[in-house]
Amino acid sequence: MPIIVLDPGHGGTDPGAVGNGLQEKDLTLTIGLKVKQLLEANYIVDVRLTREADVFVELAERADFANNLGAAYFVSLHHNAGGGTGFESYIYPGTSSSETGRRQDVIHEEIMNFLSGYSLRNRGQKEANFSVLRETSMPAILLENLFIDSVNDTNLLKDPTFITGLSTSIASGIGKALNL
Ligand SMILES: [Zn+2]
Repeated sequence: MPIIVLDPGHGGTDPGAVGNGLQEKDLTLTIGLKVKQLLEANYIVDVRLTREADVFVELAERADFANNLGAAYFVSLHHNAGGGTGFESYIYPGTSSSETGRRQDVIHEEIMNFLSGYSLRNRGQKEANFSVLRETSMPAILLENLFIDSVNDTNLLKDPTFITGLSTSIASGIGKALNL
């Protein structure tokens, strides 16, 4: 049974982005736990989280955790900030024509299919030299699920129905990408 590692960004003393009454570390954990539940309910998979509580975990530890498990996939969950709106996903630079890029295509489309129902902007499939993408030895993706400093985006992120829908689209995207 494939092992999937979900990586709720930030935690503990590191809140991540903060705005409109929300902290990134809380949202990433809520969504991570929900995606785990959905994956295990719908597929034969072993889903592990790099953290299951509000604790600080070093970036290197997150990658080591997945590498030591021999995970089939690593999915890092984040929320954006900096004055924009919408969704974007990241893979390690130069991997777009590999299995990593193929999975990004599938997951990005699945999530955008859900988000476009809310007229949210598709900011695109991107590449970045992020630690968790670079240091993981299996295909990896990092999702930036809307902007914490956008009132429009946080109104959605505060809505449990939206969070469930977003989590469902992430889980089904992972299921499709891995042919589960
Ligand atoms: Zn983050």
